[in-house]
Parts: sequence; C-alpha cells; structure tokens
Amino acid sequence: MSSAPENAKAIAADVLVLGASFAGVELVYQLHRRAAAKPPKIVVVDRDREHGYLPLVQERLVGTIDPATTLLRTAAYIEGLPRARFVQGEIVEVDARGRAAVLADGTRITARVLVIALGSVLAPPPSIPGGERMLAHKSPQQLAALRQRLAEVYASADADARVVVVGGGISGCELAGELASLAARTERPWPGVPKVTLVASTDRLVPILHPRVGVRAKAALVEQGVDVRLGARVVAVEGGAVELAIAGRRERLDAAVVVWTGGIAPAPLVAALDVDRTPAGWIAVGPTLQCFPTRGPAEVFACGDAVRVLGGDGEWPTMQRAIECIWQAKVVARNALALLDRSDERDADHTGLHPHRPRPQFAYGVSLGARSLVVYGWLCVGVSWINRWFRRWLMRQYFARYPVVASPVASTSPRG
Ligand SMILES: Cc1cc2nc3c(=O)[nH]c(=O)nc-3n(C[C@H](O)[C@H](O)[C@H](O)COP(=O)(O)OP(=O)(O)OC[C@H]3O[C@@H](n4cnc5c(N)ncnc54)[C@H](O)[C@@H]3O)c2cc1C
Repeated sequence: MSSAPENAKAIAADVLVLGASFAGVELVYQLHRRAAAKPPKIVVVDRDREHGYLPLVQERLVGTIDPATTLLRTAAYIEGLPRARFVQGEIVEVDARGRAAVLADGTRITARVLVIALGSVLAPPPSIPGGERMLAHKSPQQLAALRQRLAEVYASADADARVVVVGGGISGCELAGELASLAARTERPWPGVPKVTLVASTDRLVPILHPRVGVRAKAALVEQGVDVRLGARVVAVEGGAVELAIAGRRERLDAAVVVWTGGIAPAPLVAALDVDRTPAGWIAVGPTLQCFPTRGPAEVFACGDAVRVLGGDGEWPTMQRAIECIWQAKVVARNALALLDRSDERDADHTGLHPHRPRPQFAYGVSLGARSLVVYGWLCVGVSWINRWFRRWLMRQYFARYPVVASPVASTSPRG
C-alpha cells in the first residue's frame, strides 16, 4: 500500500463497508438490527452521499416521477445511527488481506471486518469502436449527462431525432418503453418526441426471462412505436449514427443519442483488489460470501453486484438485482457479527458461518412505458397500473427501511 501524506487521517473501525448502495446500506441496517444493544463501530465509504433509486431510473430520467422523491439519503441515515460513520470519498486503494482502504485524500481506514460492496458500472465494452460516444443512465453523472443530451436534442417541438437504446435486457426495454411513451404524454420534459430504436444482439428480448415474456415485451414496445431490432449487434458508433451487424450484413442507422444498457462490468477498482476474481473480472466469493473462504483472513467479505458466488458445481445463478443485494447483505451481517464475537485466537477460523442461498425463481416487474408485465417463471401478466403503483410502493417501503432521524438541512442535491 502506498505511503499516506503526513497530514492524512487514520480511522479504525470494527466493520469497514466499501460502497453504500443497495448492498452497503442494507449491511449497515442488518448489523444494527441484529446487534441493536451493542452495535459494532461501522465506517461506510462512498463517493456519493445520496443514491437515486435505480429500479425507477428510466422514470427519473424523463420525469414521470419526481427525481427528488427517488433519492435515498444514505449518508444522513448512516450518520443518524449510533457508532456508525459515513465517509464521503473516492476509494483509491484496498488492501483486502490487511482489511484496509485508502481514500483519494490519503485517509486510511482499517477494520477488523472488511466488506467490499463496490458494485458495478454500466459501461459499453471497450472493444466497440466509438463506444465512448454511448451514454448510460446508472451513475448520477451518467444520468445527468444523458438528461442534458436529450434536452439539447429535443429542445424544439419538431425534433424527432432517433434515440438508439442498445441492449434488449430488462433495463433496455424499460428505457425504450419510457422514452417511446413520451409521444402519448401531454406533459413532456422536452418539447420534441424521440423516435426510439431498441437494438438487441439476441434473437428475443429479455432473454433471462421465459420466451413468452420476450414476445409480449416486443409487442408492447412495437405498439408504442419502438422500432425493435433483434439479432443486431452494434459494431461501431460514429457521431450521429450507429453501425449494426445483422445476419451477416451491415446497416447504418442515424442516431442523435445512443444509450448503452447492454451489460454491466465490475467497478473499476475491483481489478486492483488482492482477491480472487472470475474470468470476467467479478470478485469470486464462497457461499459464505467470504473472499477467502477457506484460507487467509476470514473477516473479508464481498456482496452485491460486484460478486459472483462460486461453490458446488461452479458459479451460482445470482441475479445482480437489488433484492439479491439485500439477501446477501443479511448473510454478511450475520457472519460478520459472528466473527466479531469470536475471541482473537479464533481469528483464522472459517467454520460455522452461514451460506448464502440461491433463489433461482423470483418475480419480476417489467415496465414498458404505458404497459407493464409482471413475470414469475412462465407466468406473465399485463397489469400496467398495478405494476406502476406497486413499484412506487416498493420504493417507499425500501426508503422507509433507512429512516433519517435528525436532519437539520434538507438535501438540495440536484443529482439524479
Ligand atoms: C439501469 C438499471 C436499472 C435497474 N433496475 C433494477 C430493477 O428494476 N430492480 C432491481 O432489483 N435491480 C435493478 N437494477 C440492478 C440494481 O440496481 C443493482 O443490482 C444494484 O444497484 C447493485 O447494488 P450494489 O450495492 O452491489 O452496487 P452499486 O449499486 O453498483 O453501487 C456501488 C456503490 O459503490 C460506490 N463506489 C464504487 N467504487 C467506488 C470508489 N472507488 N470509491 C467510492 N465509492 C465507490 C458507488 O458510488 C456506489 O454507490 C438496475 C440496474 C441498472 C443499471
């Protein structure tokens, strides 16, 4: 680890949590819930003090929902808990075996238990020429840049330039649907109405769900005016156009805005960690969500989007979704508290910890602009208003889990 500047701060904790999104904040909640009488000293680090609610990110983008009501005040929640501290900063170095992290300002934080919850980034693979021209909508900075670009392009009422959404998964379908549904709305964030093309390299939409869902999602999007291109791969992005490869031929498509939703990658810092990784670069953890499940320091955990669980026959089918983060955070909290309870001489003991449980079947709500699908296995029901209401209710329930007790200053963050 590099030497810190002379005036750098040093902080010591029982539990150090790196990342405060779905996985990190839930871990804090679970530690407090399970050790309410005597909570451990927790330090949480994230570059952002607030977190926009990602499941409704497409609605936040186009203003179907007020962005101010969709921000979790993460730091304020943590700061309101006894023995918990939120540190805003950029983590630049992690010594997993040493259970320490260094921030960009030189602050060094050490702990008995380290939890890595650094998540993922929505970023196109570097192999696509011109890929850097694609925008995205996960981080606050990405969301703001996309919103600004859309505002520029659709500033005038007769602007009907094309938005190309790349990626036929749930996020791509939801974004394409929300953009297309603007045509039927009287109140719009911009005077112009985008033409929307959804490009998927697969031969059906939402391939992680039952084929029926793909068929119904496509029909709902086409009905709202989305031009859906299946089996089409983006091979290059130029200023004002994308080049597609479709069944051996090339096609150039005019595109004023190109948005990548086609897959996530590990947070950049993950590549520099002294832990095992899968071939795709994700943190490899054992079923107990430990980074060193059999040998090495027992007190190093990772959870959330950043991890892939290896155990039994290989990689477990985890969902990389918010609910998975919550399930994993519960397991980590339980195991972390168990290790903190052990005496020092049992430090290296890896036994007796609880495993995460894969749950391959789970219900999904897929919003498609004015339409929605609720999906469980092969069951797929179109219940638009219920799904929209339910997802907002879910968000409020989620926020209620992390209440802000005392807050002298209301948040004025403009960031989505
Ligand atoms: C467009 C989109 C739509 C989605 N919709 C849904 C949905 O409808 N339902 C659902 O269940 N899931 C949805 N998901 C998935 C869900 O958002 C993720 O599973 C979840 O965000 C993962 O949480 P996490 O805590 O593991 O990491 P992330 O949410 O990726 O957060 C990682 C955190 O670590 C911080 N961080 C990373 N590196 C550093 C660093 N070097 N220094 C400081 N801080 C750092 C980041 O600031 C961030 O707060 C969606 C995802 C996307 C991208």
